[in-house]
Amino acid sequence: MQTEDTRFSKDNLRLLVEGKLDWEEVKRALRLRPKDADRFWKYLAVLQEKVPWKDRILLRISDHLYIVAKEGGGRIVKCDCGQEFGDYRINWKLSCRIYVRRTAEQLAEVVATEEAIPNPELVEIREFYCPGCFALLGVEQVPIGYPPVFEMLPDLDTFYREWLGKPLPDERPDWFQDRTLQKPAEWAKGK
Ligand SMILES: [Zn+2]
Repeated sequence: MQTEDTRFSKDNLRLLVEGKLDWEEVKRALRLRPKDADRFWKYLAVLQEKVPWKDRILLRISDHLYIVAKEGGGRIVKCDCGQEFGDYRINWKLSCRIYVRRTAEQLAEVVATEEAIPNPELVEIREFYCPGCFALLGVEQVPIGYPPVFEMLPDLDTFYREWLGKPLPDERPDWFQDRTLQKPAEWAKGK
């Protein structure tokens, strides 16, 4: 068991996560050499204390979303509100409430400068909301009909094994696979 590295404290990490850490302290943390070896673990512990559920956080992937190890097996995407988005290998956006801005009027509501409003014949803006807490989870501006952008599919086993030196207990070669197309295939079958 590693001993705790106290040069950058867990309390400071908590303040950093909350956006309240003094800028001088942030710079000190950035410049610390060598870095405190247990920073990632302290960071995970801070995140875990802030969510109301018990599933183990493996990685935070956005302001509200985490990849967690589900009790009883599986790695899923979960919102801090508790809403679950299923297997992390399937783009979580497909399980969201989605608002699509298609007309010039709808685009103008979120683009303040007139010259910057995209051409609605070419482009749409999609907003992805959590079905549980209605937090805005993501926004993308893409050509009409473009598949939802899969922003992050991390190779968790390599990260935990090679970078953190602590392999995950359910390590398997098929975890690092984009399975997003399974979702529309299920819809097509009426599931
Ligand atoms: Zn939520």
